[in-house]
Amino acid sequence: MNILSFDVGGTSIKYGIVNEHSEIKFKDSINTPSNEDSFLEIINSIISKNKMKFDKISVAMPGFIDKQNAMYLYGTNIKYKIDFKKINNFSHSNFLIDNDGNVAAYAEYHLNYRDKKTNLIMLTFGTGIGGGIINDGKLLRGNSNAGELGHILISDNIEIICNCGKNGCLEAIVSAKKWTEVCNELSLKEPDSELAILFQQRKVGSILFDEKVRLTSVQILARDRIIKYISRGLVSIFEIFNNELFILGGSMSEEAYDLVNLIQQNIHNNFEFKGRVFPDIKISNFQSDSGIIGAALLAQHE
Ligand SMILES: [Zn+2]
Repeated sequence: MNILSFDVGGTSIKYGIVNEHSEIKFKDSINTPSNEDSFLEIINSIISKNKMKFDKISVAMPGFIDKQNAMYLYGTNIKYKIDFKKINNFSHSNFLIDNDGNVAAYAEYHLNYRDKKTNLIMLTFGTGIGGGIINDGKLLRGNSNAGELGHILISDNIEIICNCGKNGCLEAIVSAKKWTEVCNELSLKEPDSELAILFQQRKVGSILFDEKVRLTSVQILARDRIIKYISRGLVSIFEIFNNELFILGGSMSEEAYDLVNLIQQNIHNNFEFKGRVFPDIKISNFQSDSGIIGAALLAQHE
């Protein structure tokens, strides 16, 4: 079975044909348009120009969805609604829509961990923070949009404004985009520091977590603040879901440096789990393809 799978992000739409073995037979990407009409036009043209045959269409969206009605409702990085029933030759039986964090968690579980773990939680770090919860081998849905882990409240600072409309969300403090902003600020403050020079070359905010880089005391404080909030987020999530594993993915997973080690150290130094073991933390190895692979897998299974 071939699936035409879309992974929609705030800046680009990745798409491709994925077969029943989760192999990507073809992939490409295009800029994300700014309104529903252009969005549907682009999807229709990809569908009609696509030369490979496919059996179903699957779409991973960065925000809230209504699966029954094939609708995208809202997300912090795409704020307009999309009614996918308007695509040419739409049929409910050949179409799947889901949240991008959910499909990424689903791909990790089915392709990497199904025989080893039944409770795992994925957080994707990019422009925002996406989440997906596999509970007892199934995606946890709640009333339909469970797993928005980027929007758990982690600070009472009302100046930390999140795109979702609340203050103090995890994503507003420690998304991968924030790491880059912090590196920028630190580089301006101390332009001759090793961090500033390396950040100029590599351009990724995760360079802050490279333990080989000699950070100044100001830079260590900024890094430790990020690690503190991520750790507190993971600890709170663990207390609710009692998961066996955390997987961190998203745009940063190609260059995570020593992020996991720093989080583990922080949790070890600050928290105790009497009678329990805090879960392992792993970096996703799908890198940027988890969206189209996971959406295609769900389309085959549902
Ligand atoms: Zn939020």
